[in-house]
Amino acid sequence: MSGLRSRTFVRGVGEVAADAPVAAADDPGLRGDGFFETLLVRDGIVRLHAHLDRFERSAAAFGVRVDRREWTGIAEAVTDAVPPGVEAALRLTVARGGVEFATVRPVPASVLRGRAGVRALTLPRGTATVPDAPWLLAAAKTSSYAVNSAALREAARRGADDAVFVDAGGFVLEAPTANVLWRRDGRWRTPPQAGRAVLPGTTLAAVAAQVEVTEVPVRPGELLDGEGVWLLSSLRGAAPLRALDGRAVSVDEDATALLAGIALGTRCGSAGPSSGGTIGG
Ligand code: PLP
Repeated sequence: MSGLRSRTFVRGVGEVAADAPVAAADDPGLRGDGFFETLLVRDGIVRLHAHLDRFERSAAAFGVRVDRREWTGIAEAVTDAVPPGVEAALRLTVARGGVEFATVRPVPASVLRGRAGVRALTLPRGTATVPDAPWLLAAAKTSSYAVNSAALREAARRGADDAVFVDAGGFVLEAPTANVLWRRDGRWRTPPQAGRAVLPGTTLAAVAAQVEVTEVPVRPGELLDGEGVWLLSSLRGAAPLRALDGRAVSVDEDATALLAGIALGTRCGSAGPSSGGTIGG
């Protein structure tokens, strides 16, 4: 037993039963007309401010405002009973014009397993670029995840743990719930983000604040030539890719430990940026 109690707070209402169907009858919720953040809780909320920054950017894309201080209070209230040493998933959700709520839940077992390594397959995502149009909600973390979930189901149906989206030109974009990072010739790389269907991840940004990460277009086959590939996201941290489309990917355990330390918050601030790194081309 982890001692973790699932909880749900509804904005403007307060705590409700953890299993209350807060958004089930809510039209914007049903249509995915909203945005959210998923954060890791591990002896405190990991990178709360980076998540709130993106939450605010998502809100702006949806034409609404979120009150940062109020959501900080909600996040702290819903997680205040998470025991030390226990990991939990905190989710902040806004359905536009509907219910706004925060939940804390156990980190899914599949996510924890993924930290030891995942087998992924590539799936086409179609469009190569996303035009700069406000209605396309680029860079917002929208709750319209039906395609992402369907991609994960397809990966599972074909015996894989995860997927890597490629665009119409055959270049890697991201995973359905993670960014892609790889290392080649001792250098960290990630696919370009601007104007493409890639969410600016907080975990990738945390890594890029400590090591230099360069944006480089890459085809799936080229990922296999390097020293390792990782899927980065808040709950999993850094999951090393062990196979892509059935072909083995090399795994660098030291690099995985370094990334996990940064991604899971255990190395936050412990090592200064090695090269002033922000993501750049
Ligand atoms: N890309 C997508 C589509 C995601 O859903 C996520 C996280 O859920 C990420 C990237 C990684 O973002 P973060 O590191 O902020 O969790």
